[in-house]
Amino acid sequence: MLSKTRIKVISFDMDGTLVPTDFVNAVWLEGIPSLYAKKHKISFEKAYEIVTKAYNEVGEHRIEWYYLDYWLKKFDLKITKKELFNMYKDKVKIYKDAEHVIKFLSNRYTLIVSSNAEKDFIWFQLKPLLPYFHHVFSATSDLKEVKKSQEFYGKVCELLKVEPEETVHIGDHLVFDYLNPRKIGINAFLLNRNQHKIGLKVNSLKNLKEILDLLNF
Ligand SMILES: [Mg+2]
Repeated sequence: MLSKTRIKVISFDMDGTLVPTDFVNAVWLEGIPSLYAKKHKISFEKAYEIVTKAYNEVGEHRIEWYYLDYWLKKFDLKITKKELFNMYKDKVKIYKDAEHVIKFLSNRYTLIVSSNAEKDFIWFQLKPLLPYFHHVFSATSDLKEVKKSQEFYGKVCELLKVEPEETVHIGDHLVFDYLNPRKIGINAFLLNRNQHKIGLKVNSLKNLKEILDLLNF
């Protein structure tokens, strides 16, 4: 059980937590390869192979991996980020429980987003929920870090002038949303929507509504 009154800030991961990953996957794994295929007049399959190989060569430990503009430039694709996003706007969805929980909690706590997605991905996907958030932190855009490290969470608490113990974070990645924030004393919960087996004993939630029970609402 969490202390309802001790908690001041509730932080949410975005991909897989507030929104499904369909949109982001479509942009990277459908959009870019199909534009590449068109430009070079090759099959989608061939383009997919080339593009994903290039992604892997850079790898998720380098900041460029996260910057869509870097890839548009690298592959010389004549499209803007916005045009590419709009191609897949039908895939943008917010989880039902997220909408409910965010609206309910926004009058009671300071809500923030702590994501490693690039800011533009966040704005585009969370548009209807943005008014409920006090602040959006992007590890890659704001702090130039590729992953949400304990330093990232430390900086977030410092900027918001709260103690880690006064903060809750919820997200679906064991290391970046659970173990790292826990290291500095944040009350982190692992969101496990599909009830995957986890090798460790963790404080997990099946859905976001469970946080309301833990806060005793
Ligand atoms: Mg996530």
